[in-house]
Amino acid sequence: MIDLHAHTNHSDGLDSPTELIQNAKTAGVSVLAITDHDTVSGWEEAAQAAGSLGIGLIPGIEVSTRAELPNGRGISVHILAYLPNPEFEPLMSRLAATRQSRVSRAQRMVDLLANDYPISWDEIASNIQPGSTVGRPALADALVRAGVVATRSEAFESILHRKSKYYVSELSLPTVEAIRLISAAGGVSVMAHPLIDFPAAAAVEDLPADHFEELIAAGLDGLEINHRAVPLNARNWLGELAFKHDLIVTGSSDYHGVAGKDNRLGENETSPEMLERILGQATGFDPFL
Ligand code: AMP
Ligand code: ZN
Ligand code: FE
Ligand code: FE
Repeated sequence: MIDLHAHTNHSDGLDSPTELIQNAKTAGVSVLAITDHDTVSGWEEAAQAAGSLGIGLIPGIEVSTRAELPNGRGISVHILAYLPNPEFEPLMSRLAATRQSRVSRAQRMVDLLANDYPISWDEIASNIQPGSTVGRPALADALVRAGVVATRSEAFESILHRKSKYYVSELSLPTVEAIRLISAAGGVSVMAHPLIDFPAAAAVEDLPADHFEELIAAGLDGLEINHRAVPLNARNWLGELAFKHDLIVTGSSDYHGVAGKDNRLGENETSPEMLERILGQATGFDPFL
């Protein structure tokens, strides 16, 4: 079982890297990628745990990016980077800037939320792992602790969603630039959960073909089509696009911990052939296999 998308408490997951690997083992996953948001800080601990438990580990990052659609609408795009060189400064410095901006963005959201709910940045800061990449889940956890909602998911559905008056978008790097940096770092780029923000009812003609063509021309290597948040009506379209451009196609869970999100380790899988393509193409870092 190959699962190439999972988070730890180095970003917004709930498991430590060691716990993640233990849980992957229990779930029957044989090859797992650690893909925390905008950081490589969990790799080392995950590699140690993977070595002792006999799990294959693909070090990765889920890079936060922004793209502008041809109609001028700005969208958030997550790009998975597999096996990039973690010492490649041009990429690492952009990730550090994103992590920094995620802190000020979270603080701005807390300022807005604090008008209506009993939460504070100090309380949130004391509850997250120092140095971890901050996201809305940290705010969701504070709302749970304050008794406003019962779970993270409820906080996302009722208060923290993108259309909410408390929502502030993070400042992150342009998608095209991220794809080029990942490739310059010797990594393989795969778009995480493509079209996650598109209404399930959107017509195929309304999907942003030009946006995908632009990213593929910039060097995008693959699409994570088998992910629970990819709209079912877009999957054939994405599959045809992948076929046309000979892209890598993956399937993964996007696990954030059992209480973090409903996604379960191994709920979607990547084929051994596609993993081989990633391994064959990456030149930035060695996998722990
Ligand atoms: P942000 O990165 O700050 O925009 O927050 C979005 C992140 O929260 C994504 O990585 C989601 O996968 C993550 N997340 C974690 N738990 C949940 C949940 N229960 N519902 C929705 N998103 C979640
Ligand atoms: Zn996340
Ligand atoms: Fe994501
Ligand atoms: Fe993710």
